[in-house]
Amino acid sequence: MRGWSDLAERVAGTTRTSEKTSLLARYLATLSSGELRAAATFLSGRPFPEADPRVVGLGWATIAAVVGRLAGTPAGALGAAYDNSSDLGVAVAEVLALRPDAPDPSLSPGLEEVADGFTAIGAAPGPAAKAAEFTSLLARCDALTAKYVVKILTGELRIGLREGLLEAAIAEAFERPRPAVGTALMLTGDTGETAVLAKEGRLNDARLRLLHPIKFMLASPAEDAADVMARLGPIVWVEDKYDGIRAQLHRRGSEVRLYSRDLHDISGQFPEIVAAAGPLDWDGILDGEILAYSDGHVLPFLTLQARLGRKEPTPEIQVEVPVAYVAFDVLAIGPRSYGGHDGAGSTVMPMLGVPLRERRGRLESLGLPTVADGGGFALSHLVTADSAETLDRVFDEARARHNEGLMVKDPQSGYTPGRRGLGWLKMKRALATLDCVVVGVEAGNGKRHGVLSDYTFAVRDESTDRLVTIGKAYTGLTDAELAEMTRWFESHTVRHVGRYRQVDPVVVVEVAFDVIQRSSRHQSGFALRFPRIARLRIEKSPTEIDTLANVERLHREFQYGAEYLVTAEERSSDRRKVDG
Ligand code: AMP
Repeated sequence: MRGWSDLAERVAGTTRTSEKTSLLARYLATLSSGELRAAATFLSGRPFPEADPRVVGLGWATIAAVVGRLAGTPAGALGAAYDNSSDLGVAVAEVLALRPDAPDPSLSPGLEEVADGFTAIGAAPGPAAKAAEFTSLLARCDALTAKYVVKILTGELRIGLREGLLEAAIAEAFERPRPAVGTALMLTGDTGETAVLAKEGRLNDARLRLLHPIKFMLASPAEDAADVMARLGPIVWVEDKYDGIRAQLHRRGSEVRLYSRDLHDISGQFPEIVAAAGPLDWDGILDGEILAYSDGHVLPFLTLQARLGRKEPTPEIQVEVPVAYVAFDVLAIGPRSYGGHDGAGSTVMPMLGVPLRERRGRLESLGLPTVADGGGFALSHLVTADSAETLDRVFDEARARHNEGLMVKDPQSGYTPGRRGLGWLKMKRALATLDCVVVGVEAGNGKRHGVLSDYTFAVRDESTDRLVTIGKAYTGLTDAELAEMTRWFESHTVRHVGRYRQVDPVVVVEVAFDVIQRSSRHQSGFALRFPRIARLRIEKSPTEIDTLANVERLHREFQYGAEYLVTAEERSSDRRKVDG
């Protein structure tokens, strides 16, 4: 692991991608298969492969306690070190460097030992047992190795390594074609496995496996209808953009699983959908969105939210917030297997490279049991558009159905897992904006380290004439704007509270967001979903910002639910098929 950590330092130390790639390639080529699996997984910035449901479950408090005990430093030492760097790995290394009996770097654990250590931490029940496993791993690490062990554990590697670069390095290390590495990675969702297949000349063995989630295809944002038509025209496929939870549905034999966008198994949260998929007579993978719905109406995301964050829904909440699975894609399909538990006999055909037009046809031919018939499924609402005007009209219709906007898809496009490809464009407008005043700022992380980029903002409560916070946003301004504002905020800091600076409430910002909801997190009693700073309103005075009364009014508007779900009849009547 020390060798890996040295490599990581060198990769972080150069900005040239070709140099990063060759450093990585030379290093990977020296490893055994076992070491390679761990090394490549860690280079992806995770303790376990992305498609692996395991988590280490180690919190900041446990890490701080273990590091403090090993280093013999007083409580607060790690926090102080973290304030300097905003990087937990760096802070841990700084604190552990003070250890009187630091282990010799040559004795640092091997890559496979670290992988075993991560497994043991993940499997340990409860914080105390996890702390014991973490202590035994960290005690053997010199400061530099510990820095990277912690960076991997917290998923914040920050050495300037994109997945594409790692893919190129694997190809170069074992002299394999880059597209073959990319395909294997896409199918397995496992960098370690892909690296080993490349080393052993078995990239063609990579298979899409049922009950192993693959990354989701993502959409690129579009400016407006004209932009969409210019990029995907002359004829585009247009689906409503539903505001629910993206989920991949896998089924093999009698097993059905649902995976979230971050590839976690969420089947337990939606037993109705799992049950609805039970009788289906195929094995395969669908892509779609889980929505709260009742009596043929889609309910707002806020309603669905009541079901989130619980492992299993109570019977009451299942009645209160029923759900449906709106399918829009099929990623693999084949006859239902009746083999053993291991799925022997399942022969699904991957559909990733097949054009959307054919995938959709296949999806429709599955005859999913619809919600209208009490079956738990629906298909996304699909029409075609051949002009910006039509697209604008469809957009307004989708909004009238209380959906977020549109997903515009190229019927010829393949399914590209994990890529923000150009095959899918999303069109949505921020529902509303609020003018708020910045009352606090904090330095950001990573690239934004040292820049006061995190703004806490407030609206005015007219009844008391006080400012009340409503949210916090991290992004939106250009680097130049941020730098200028950082200088301003530094000289207008009223008070330091840890990393947080309370500032003179003078700077007005326009904040865009998707939804307003009630929340005790902020003084206003409301919180914004996906807030982003749309622009600085330097010209505005803080006396002109929005009031709490405005926020309450907007919140009432958001209370209305979507009143639309595609029914079987609408599917056949409303949809216009594209010729050819
Ligand atoms: P965004 O989260 O704004 O980047 O938009 C992408 C998300 O829209 C996807 O991850 C899906 O969860 C969601 N979505 C809603 N409706 C659709 C649809 N018809 N096709 C694809 N994605 C959709």
